[in-house]
Amino acid sequence: MNHAAIRSQFPLLNCLQEEDYPLCYLDNAATAQKPAMVLQAMDAFYRQQNANVHRGSYQLSAAATAAVEASRDKLQRFINAEQRQEVIFTHGTTESLNMLAYGLEPQLQAGDLILVDSAAHHANIVPWQQLALRTGAQVVPIPLDEELRLDDAACKLLLAKRPKIVALSHVSNVLGTVNNITALCQRIRAAGAISVVDGAQAVAHLPVDVQALGCDFYAFSGHKMYGPTGVGILWGKLAQLEQLTPMLTGGEMIKTVSFSGSTFGALPHRLEAGTPPIAEIIGLAAAVDFLTQFVDANSRQHEQRLLQQLRDGLLAMPAVELYAAHADNLGAIAFNIRGEHHHDVGALLDQQGIAIRCGHHCAMPLMSLMALNGCCRASLGIYNNEQDVARFLAALQQTIALLT
Ligand code: PLP
Repeated sequence: MNHAAIRSQFPLLNCLQEEDYPLCYLDNAATAQKPAMVLQAMDAFYRQQNANVHRGSYQLSAAATAAVEASRDKLQRFINAEQRQEVIFTHGTTESLNMLAYGLEPQLQAGDLILVDSAAHHANIVPWQQLALRTGAQVVPIPLDEELRLDDAACKLLLAKRPKIVALSHVSNVLGTVNNITALCQRIRAAGAISVVDGAQAVAHLPVDVQALGCDFYAFSGHKMYGPTGVGILWGKLAQLEQLTPMLTGGEMIKTVSFSGSTFGALPHRLEAGTPPIAEIIGLAAAVDFLTQFVDANSRQHEQRLLQQLRDGLLAMPAVELYAAHADNLGAIAFNIRGEHHHDVGALLDQQGIAIRCGHHCAMPLMSLMALNGCCRASLGIYNNEQDVARFLAALQQTIALLT
């Protein structure tokens, strides 16, 4: 299928073509647009199949339950999880990481070290800080080198201190830099620590095989991979998941309940208390179908070419300061116009129909390492094309002319 045919599957991109300035959507790291097959799957669920799951004694409920469990199987294959019970439905990466930071608490003691990627999103920092407050453990940032990648030597030294948990980003949501998770996890395992990987920015841009990565836990959100908001995944090795204390308790996750005490059910339901986001889980499975059918080595190369086009265009503008724009980055590029406020840049681009993100990008520690109070970020999705990049670059030239 050619690229125009992929783009045409996204109704929002097409319906805004009528505006004075057709939308140029370059904020895919915040959330991606949804293909028709995701919208149709959710619509069909509500129109034809809506019922609660795992509890009904009637056919409609059995069909909804089967659809949710089929989605789990699809997600299992998508990330190559060894077992279907390792795929836990959550409401997104933030909830997945909070579930971990809560669930690992009994395994921590005062003085234990939790290492956290300095470029991490707040969702992969704050839950660990809260865990440290509750347990007396200590959160230690893993420094970055001058290329704004994880500092290898510092990482080795920190691992030698035998941390309990190491929390990493797979792909930085600000810079698009990629951590070598397989190599890092080997070392983390050798140091006897638990590895947690935030894959929110990875799943839309590269094939994820959790067994090959060798991590203990991997978290991601549906809405950044062309699926709906309100659904995400926590994947963990079965033995690790079994040790987690459930953060949420109540219906669906129990085996027995009495006023003398309750017992919990088996995975995956033990970590899925309450009514799950059923339509969203079905929509997420449709997003997996979309990625499986339409995203291949060619489309990924197309995305990389666009990133290169963005990088080259920005490098050619002397007024632009680029951050860590390495050739092996994925999906996003961060920059500022020298001497200008990022929000002014974003507002002027918006007036020209260009949607990018400006601010601290939920990565304040990274911003302070870079001595910035914020920056602009353009981020790509599978439907972006050369015209989007050219329009963005032309609009940025115009913005520079207006501001400077
Ligand atoms: N981690 C990273 C790297 C992200 O980019 C984001 C969202 O921007 C999150 C975590 C949080 O994801 P969500 O808001 O879907 O829970």
